[in-house]
Amino acid sequence: MATQIIKISLIGNPNTGKTSVFNQLTGLNQQVGNYPGITVERKQGTMRLNGTTKGTVIDLPGTYSLNASSMDESVVIELLLNRKDKDFPDVAVVVTDVENLKRNLLLFTQIKDLEIPAILVINMADRMERKGITVDIPYLEEQLKTKIALVSSRKGTGIAALKELILNYKDLPTEPCLNASSIDPDYFGKLRQAFPNQLLYKLWLVITQDVNFGQVERNEIDKSSFTKSKTELKRLQQKETIKRYQFINNVLKLGRIVNTANANDLRAKLDRVLTHKVFGYVIFFSILMLIFQSIFAWSNVPMDLIDEGFSWLSSYAAKNLPPGQLTELVTQGIIPGIGGVVIFIPQIAFLFLFISILEESGYMSRVVFLMDRVMKRFGLSGKSVVPLISGTACAIPAIMAARNIENWRERLITILVTPFTTCSARLPVYAILISLIIPNRMVLGFVNLQGLTLMLLYMLGFLGAILSGIILNKVLKTRYKSFFVAEMPNYKVPLAKNVAITVVEKTKAFVYGAGKIILALSIVIWFLGSHGPGDDFENAEQIVTSEESSATLSANELDDKIAAYQLQNSYIGIMGKSIEPAIAPLGYDWKIGIAIVSSFAAREVFVGTLATIYNIGSGSDDEATIKQRMRAETDPETGKKVFNFATGISLLLFYAFAMQCMSTLAITKKETNSWKWPMIQLFGMSGFAYLVSLIAYQLLK
Ligand code: GDP
Repeated sequence: MATQIIKISLIGNPNTGKTSVFNQLTGLNQQVGNYPGITVERKQGTMRLNGTTKGTVIDLPGTYSLNASSMDESVVIELLLNRKDKDFPDVAVVVTDVENLKRNLLLFTQIKDLEIPAILVINMADRMERKGITVDIPYLEEQLKTKIALVSSRKGTGIAALKELILNYKDLPTEPCLNASSIDPDYFGKLRQAFPNQLLYKLWLVITQDVNFGQVERNEIDKSSFTKSKTELKRLQQKETIKRYQFINNVLKLGRIVNTANANDLRAKLDRVLTHKVFGYVIFFSILMLIFQSIFAWSNVPMDLIDEGFSWLSSYAAKNLPPGQLTELVTQGIIPGIGGVVIFIPQIAFLFLFISILEESGYMSRVVFLMDRVMKRFGLSGKSVVPLISGTACAIPAIMAARNIENWRERLITILVTPFTTCSARLPVYAILISLIIPNRMVLGFVNLQGLTLMLLYMLGFLGAILSGIILNKVLKTRYKSFFVAEMPNYKVPLAKNVAITVVEKTKAFVYGAGKIILALSIVIWFLGSHGPGDDFENAEQIVTSEESSATLSANELDDKIAAYQLQNSYIGIMGKSIEPAIAPLGYDWKIGIAIVSSFAAREVFVGTLATIYNIGSGSDDEATIKQRMRAETDPETGKKVFNFATGISLLLFYAFAMQCMSTLAITKKETNSWKWPMIQLFGMSGFAYLVSLIAYQLLK
């Protein structure tokens, strides 16, 4: 017998435990992707209902109502209005929180009006006893014209009953539970006459919502004689909402009894401290400090292991594969490229471990509340704090963390400005440049000048982010206005299953999304660095050997010289040289140019590339040697030091602002679904960096 498939849409307000229900139903049988063309996350999973029936569950974005105010909410409406959509549900499962039924049921009554078979899940049943709540299920079922599953997705209770209801979805009543058209019988009567074959409430939504679906009908409606003005429609919508709440209040009066004797004492106390004007911030920044310390401390070990593992693999492959182009591609392009993806996994996994614990516990909502006022001024959201600060580790997980920001515009601005934050890859570059140009001296008795410079550079990064936030806030226009819904869910012990699934999903999303692009670009950069157009590159060995024939070089030194010569004559080398006229006003020579071009692979490559060009040799990349070599480097024409104060400051500023990380560009492409935004980052940030460095050098030289 063929397998029957039931299509299920999970719908509900944010924080009702929708994701937990989804995880309970589908376990790890999930695929996470995006809706076509937009970056709203699309989660789908499957489950077995009985021997011959399977369910495919779509976890729709959390939404408060069918009145779209964000891209996420539009997704829900567009699906529910379009019976031809391949995902149109056979049954809608509406998840609500037993403690917030009043607000949660608004959406449910709207879905009922669309006459879609709907099951009402009342979740968080485990909290009823403590909160003194009792619900009269048969009464509610009768009033709301539905079937109810009382569920605790935390304890896993009620899930079997829910599956049973899904299996028998054909028995569900489809009639609306209230008559919304009574808000203006005359108007709805006319609508009814004009479009006798259409569902009345669907028409109403098409009229009032700016959703993509139903263009044709909207045109027809706009042409018809009884159109209403925008303000009239707004007023009607308000009337509709009031009507729904009246209905819900009446139903709940008898259907759910709340004994408020043991009210939310603890919660109120905690809230008072955690959102306090002073302590709130102190606590939050302490928690952040702790998190980033742990991310650094814990990631280092696996990252080193991964690093060593891949270099071992690379040299193992080099020894054991027949020499040739293909082997070089594998050992110098593909393996390090994959390594360059895998190395980010520990940071990403740890960051999302912490983020999801903060979210699950309910604390994140307090932080958002706390920070929102401050961040709004810069076009950012309270939730932008996490990406901005995570960026000090690495922009990649940081940009991914921006997914938590529902408002698309705020999310976009956050994604665009996050790379300004000083990531850990800049640290080796800063460290060496600072030690070259800033004296290791104390000022004011206790402040180390070098340390101070480093701190200033970090602050410059945040400043860059904030300033560009302000600019983008002015420039960017989007369809959705932002309004802040202050929702404070209850504090809860995080659910291990939810946390684990988040970590796995985010890591997977990174590896398969940005990973592909990082790998491809690594191979391109490898190719450009290890191939050259002319004889100079091909015959590097002979040329260097004959030039140096009189000198007494060790085999190692000779190899280093050859490598340096090859790099100079490779495509990257030629690119570095050809940009010299452009970067000379910034105080850089072509050698620095090569290092800048190749640090697109990753900023920290800057130091290594200079080491190769100055042919110090790959075996001796310890800092002392490269530092001495850089300090000694002079301009052959003027005899002046290359790394003087002016050039050093100019370079520091360049690295502080320039968008020089293809992995970040890749993740921005992935998260925004377009090359436009990463290109704006690339040219905007680098252009700005160029300007600042130019001014700095010209003033200081
Ligand atoms: P979503 O925003 O609707 O997807 O909600 P989540 O599934 O992320 O859950 C929101 C919060 O409620 C999390 O802290 C969950 O751990 C918690 N939660 C989910 N289901 C239950 C439940 O049945 N009982 C309790 N006590 N907490 C739950």
